[in-house]
Amino acid sequence: MVMNTKKLYDDDAYQTAFNAAVLSCEPYMASSKNTNQDSPLYDILLDQTAFFPEEGGQNADTGTIDDLPVLDVQIKDGLIHHITNTPFIPGQKITGNIDWMPRYSNMQQHSGEHIMSGLIHSHFGYDNVGFHLGIKNVTLDFNGFLTDLQLEMIETLANEAIYKNLAITASYPSKNRLSSMEYRSKIELEGPVRIVTIPGYDICACCAPHVKKTGEIGIIKITDAIKYKGGIRISIQCGARALDDYRMKQQQLHSISVLLSARQEAAADAAAKLKDENFALKGQIISLQNSLIGQKAAAISPDQENIFLLENYMDPGAHKNYVNLLTGKCAGLCAVFAGNDIDGYRYIISSKTKDVRPFHEQMKKQVLAKGGGSGQMVQGSCSGPKEQILSFFQTCGLPFTIPRHLF
Ligand SMILES: [Zn+2]
Repeated sequence: MVMNTKKLYDDDAYQTAFNAAVLSCEPYMASSKNTNQDSPLYDILLDQTAFFPEEGGQNADTGTIDDLPVLDVQIKDGLIHHITNTPFIPGQKITGNIDWMPRYSNMQQHSGEHIMSGLIHSHFGYDNVGFHLGIKNVTLDFNGFLTDLQLEMIETLANEAIYKNLAITASYPSKNRLSSMEYRSKIELEGPVRIVTIPGYDICACCAPHVKKTGEIGIIKITDAIKYKGGIRISIQCGARALDDYRMKQQQLHSISVLLSARQEAAADAAAKLKDENFALKGQIISLQNSLIGQKAAAISPDQENIFLLENYMDPGAHKNYVNLLTGKCAGLCAVFAGNDIDGYRYIISSKTKDVRPFHEQMKKQVLAKGGGSGQMVQGSCSGPKEQILSFFQTCGLPFTIPRHLF
C-alpha cells in the first residue's frame, strides 16, 4: 500500500484525463453533502489522480472513472478517496476524467483569491482567516475591516495584476529556505510545503491548482462585502463566473429600466422616485379609507346587538379605526374581517361590555384562525374561505347583524 496518492494536479493543473491503478475498493459508509444517495457507495483509492479533493475551503472536482460518475473526493492522511456508486476491482487499470469547466473556474477563483489576499495583506496588514470556494459563491474573510473606497482600490490593483499577465508558479522549498521565507499561511506543517507565488503580489502556502498566468483569471470583481466577526467577509467573482454574474445583472438592470422607462444609469433614481410616489399614494389611500369608514360607520344605526362586517381590503390602521367606531354602536360583539380568499383574512373582534375571548376560542376552532388579545379586543388571521367565515357567524348562537351584500 502506498502512503500517498500521487497528485497529478500538483505538477499539471491542466491535465484532465489520466490512467491509474485501483489500489482498494471498500464500501463507503459515511455520508456527506455530495453523496446523499440511497444506493450503496464505494471508496476507491488509486495510485495517482487528477481529482482535486475537497480541501482548504475549495469544493472537490467532479468527473468520471471509466465513464462512471465520481460523486465526491476527500483527502485523509495523504490518501485521496474517490466516492462512487460503482465498485472497482483492486489492481484494475482505469481511466479518469475530470470535468474541466468547473475545475478551470475553481482555478480562476482561487488564483484571484490569492491576488486579493496578498494585496489586502501588503496594504492593510490583515490576514485571510477564512476562505470558501463553492459552486456559486467565493468568500474571503479578513481579520480587519475595509471601507468601500479601500475595497475599490484593492479591486483596481487586483485587476492590474491580471493585465500584467504574470506567471504563477508552485514550488517546494527546503525546510531551511522556508524558515527564512516570508509567506502567507505560515504554519508548522508536516512534510513538504507547497508555495504558490504570484510575483509582486503574493507568496502563500497552498495545495490547490492555479492558472499558469494571471491573465487567465480574466477579471476579479468584488460583488459583496459585509462586517464579519470583527473583520470583513468579501464575496468575489472571477473569470467566467464574473461574466455570468455580469450577464445576470445586465438582464436585471435592462428589465428594470424598461419597466421604469428610464435609462440604465438612471434606474436607481427612477426606482427611488417610484418608491416615494408609492409611499405618498399609500398615505392618500389610508386618508380616503378613514374618511370612507367614517361615513360607513355613521350609516350604521346605534342600536345594534352584534355586528359582523367583511371588507375586501383595509389598511391595518383603518381596520382598527373602523372597529373602534363600530364598537360604540353595539351592545355585544363587533367583528370586522378584511381580506379575500386568495390572500386570507385579518380580523378584529371587540366589545365594550363583554369578554370576547370565549367567543374567539370558539371561532378559532371552526375557521382555523390564529390570534389573541385582551378581554376587550382580539385580533388575528385566518385563511378563509369567506363561506366558512359567514357560516360560522350565522350559526354561532349569537344574533349577528350581517349585511345582505355579503351573501
Ligand atoms: Zn490557496
